[in-house]
Amino acid sequence: MQAPRRALVTGGAGFLGSHLCDQLIDRGDEVLCVDNLLTGRKANIRHLLDHPSFEFLRHDVSQPLQVEVDVIYHLACPASPVQYQSDPTRTIETALEGAIHLLHLARDVGAKILLASTSEVYGDPEVHPQTESYRGSVTTTGPRSCYDEGKRASETLFWDAHLQFGTRIRIARIFNTYGPRMRADDGRVVSTFLVQGLTGQPFTVYGDGSQTRSFCYVSDLIDGLIRLMDASDDAAGISEPVNLGNPEERTVLELVDAVRVVTGSTAPVVPLPLPIDDPVRRCPSIVRAQHLLGWRPVTPLIGGLRATAQALAEEEGLPAPPPPDASLAGAQAARLDGAGRAS
Ligand code: NAD
Ligand code: UDP
Repeated sequence: MQAPRRALVTGGAGFLGSHLCDQLIDRGDEVLCVDNLLTGRKANIRHLLDHPSFEFLRHDVSQPLQVEVDVIYHLACPASPVQYQSDPTRTIETALEGAIHLLHLARDVGAKILLASTSEVYGDPEVHPQTESYRGSVTTTGPRSCYDEGKRASETLFWDAHLQFGTRIRIARIFNTYGPRMRADDGRVVSTFLVQGLTGQPFTVYGDGSQTRSFCYVSDLIDGLIRLMDASDDAAGISEPVNLGNPEERTVLELVDAVRVVTGSTAPVVPLPLPIDDPVRRCPSIVRAQHLLGWRPVTPLIGGLRATAQALAEEEGLPAPPPPDASLAGAQAARLDGAGRAS
């Protein structure tokens, strides 16, 4: 019988990392979760702490780490604009020093390593949808630069380790992902609007709400990350960046409509200023992921938002979302989940 694979998940107590730990444990891997709990929470992994195949280590990835592992999923980095902009120096240092130390570890123990990169490497893109070959439109001196440039340089560090030392790498460019365990106060749009919807507060729409994002449900994203890690090293182009996200593009105002369907809220929109360098349009081309991994998201927006709203209500003691029939008309939900916009 094959020995269980030992996986290191950095940022494993965060939103995405904790779901990844769950999936890896479920399939029989051993998991070492490393996190300094900067934006993550012990509560996200509490149910795993007594599992014989799970270990938690409180550690800052900007310091070196020596452990025996077969694969490394490197997710440690704050991801919400509010959080990563609150201490920009620390954000870019985490991205760079974390990538350097984890690549050294991968090289020392011969582990395969995956970087959780981001659609932010495309900046405020001029190409739609964004393909991996697009080089991006990014500034080195804006409020988002600490994160964008930190991730861009991390991709370069990964790529150079691959070229120079033969390190087996994977680079996932993750587009906006949402789901249970997002923090109610992390400032990202889905959790913010769901809390506002559940509590009947006005929706804080930045700018005129015509800017777009593409929202991927967490279970779909985790499935994509694991497929990318597991893909054969011989697959052509597997070390190059791969977009993972939902190709259905929505305006922020359309997201408000969807949240109203799920929460039953009739609260108005309050327009607030658009943050500097907020990307106007964002939508992934997932042709590479489909071709290399046979992957595409399957969770409809309304269903994913409903599960997220339910979890937020339970975690935060907020009013529960109404049952589907009692919320706005099913026809409206179907329209918002319309398949037509997928590219
Ligand atoms: P998150 O903030 O919930 O998770 C990040 C985790 O990293 C947290 O648990 C945090 O405590 C930990 N961390 C931060 N700095 C650390 C350090 N110096 N040492 C050790 N641990 C540290 O965010 P998330 O949404 O789960 O994002 C996870 C990863 O995915 C990030 O690298 C992020 O850039 C990337 N990503 C996420 C999205 C998304 O929509 N969720 C989109 C693009 C990229
Ligand atoms: N946004 C908004 N109201 C909020 C929070 C965010 O209108 O309360 C907008 C934000 O301006 C951006 C989009 O929602 O256009 C997504 O923001 P988020 O912070 O979730 O992530 P981003 O994709 O910008 O990194």
